[in-house]
Amino acid sequence: MTARDLSRAVRETEARYERWARAIGLRPSQAQRCPRVVAGLRCTAWRSAAPCACQALDRVLDHARVWLRADGRRVLSAEPYDVTSDDLAALLVCAIELGLVFSIHGASPWNPGATVLLVIERAQPDPMQAQHKGEQQ
Ligand SMILES: [Zn+2]
Repeated sequence: MTARDLSRAVRETEARYERWARAIGLRPSQAQRCPRVVAGLRCTAWRSAAPCACQALDRVLDHARVWLRADGRRVLSAEPYDVTSDDLAALLVCAIELGLVFSIHGASPWNPGATVLLVIERAQPDPMQAQHKGEQQ
């Protein structure tokens, strides 16, 4: 692959990300690529003896990027080439602990047809529960 081919491949990849992000109302963020950051917490990588979520999940968080919704909420995308049941279990435990949810998509901008797209973000409050809470006050 020549430098010119590589440059074109990078531009095509970025164009796929732009189309994907625009279609679902996201814009790129420079925030740390960490589930804790998406949850509104600080990344603890290299600050603690225990690995941060982003370090513990580094295999499944391959090609991770952070995005912003219009309301300022952060979204983490990750695009591994494969995901094992152990990966999913670890991601699910992390998501539950941090109040996050994730979805898995076959259309992945990084390497279409080869990678899968994981979209990780804060769980939305259940509107019925919020309404019920309001009635109790
Ligand atoms: Zn982290």
